[in-house]
Amino acid sequence: MPLYLDNAATTKIRDEVLLKMIDSLKSFGNSESKYYSFAEDAKKNIKDARLKISSSVGCEEDEVIFTSGATEANNLIIKGFTEANPERKKIIISSIEHSSILKTAEYLSTKGYEIIKIPVDSNGLVDLKLLESTIDDKTLLVSIIWVNNEIGTIQNMKKIDEICFLKGVMLHSDATQALGKIDINLSQYKALRSITFTSHKIYGPKGIGALILRKDDNNIKIPLVPLFHGGEQENGYRAGTLSNELIVGFGEACRLITEDINKNQEKLLVLENKLKEKLISKFGSKIIINNDFKDRVYGLLNVQIKGFNNMLLLKNISHVLAASTGSACGVSTPSRVLKAIGLDNLSISQSIRLSISQFSEISDFDVIDDL
Ligand code: PMP
Repeated sequence: MPLYLDNAATTKIRDEVLLKMIDSLKSFGNSESKYYSFAEDAKKNIKDARLKISSSVGCEEDEVIFTSGATEANNLIIKGFTEANPERKKIIISSIEHSSILKTAEYLSTKGYEIIKIPVDSNGLVDLKLLESTIDDKTLLVSIIWVNNEIGTIQNMKKIDEICFLKGVMLHSDATQALGKIDINLSQYKALRSITFTSHKIYGPKGIGALILRKDDNNIKIPLVPLFHGGEQENGYRAGTLSNELIVGFGEACRLITEDINKNQEKLLVLENKLKEKLISKFGSKIIINNDFKDRVYGLLNVQIKGFNNMLLLKNISHVLAASTGSACGVSTPSRVLKAIGLDNLSISQSIRLSISQFSEISDFDVIDDL
């Protein structure tokens, strides 16, 4: 079996999570049903999972809105919040957002919204001065990806939060690649009212994610126009019967991944160094690390192999190593994230993303010798 180095795209479900999910499949009742006992197990399972998720990120249980994943959650916050607040028509995002934020914002630009993309420096960090000067009284929302999915840059969310707070603007962050890799405690933030993430990046099942929407300073729920109209589930923010088993898996994956963040990051650094060493001993000076930054998560290397086209290379070595050129949600176009940090087209066409599992072992990288 090839070595799997595409954990930023998706992860293998962990056994503990799978076991809990299998068990939960026996509770067939609809968690919303009343009057009879069949729903009780499902109801309890969902409550437990909601608590695991809320305590992992420092919010309250009723601030967790389950969705099908981060794409839906990002659509819900951006479209739902703009539609509920039609008086302001300017949205600010970074130039390195995931496509589920970028394309949603671009869609809104066809509906008369002004979309401003704040550039990043060569480390992928948002230009904070420009962010500050761009927010004005027409601005409704700022959305900045917490940890980037192609280069791993961690934004200075405390500072961004402060800027947005002083300007009186709501901040959203796509925290999909941040969950379980950095400590997230929403109670420490003021303007940051919402984050999104997904279960399949944290060794949980696919098809389930969440929008965390914090209540305002008066403890009142922030209104959103839902994407799905229908039942009263998720306080009316997201209609549709909840998936007991997916939510159970998500809750457990979230609890486990946030339990040992520091230990996991330390291990990923060791693994990453070994991988780098192996690549350099195989390819020598042909190797250039694109994301040799200070503020980044470990376990995600963005690497150029000079003289090799990334797509041809990955295809040719796919029997030994499974990796990608960048985001799984934008495989057909050259990476706009690498462009945003200043790479030229040739360098981008030779770049691959290697994202390591926290369950890998050093010896797994011996396969690099066989490339
Ligand atoms: N945001 C980021 C940063 C991601 O990496 C991804 C997954 N590629 C998503 C959003 C979308 O997540 P999902 O697959 O759950 O829709």
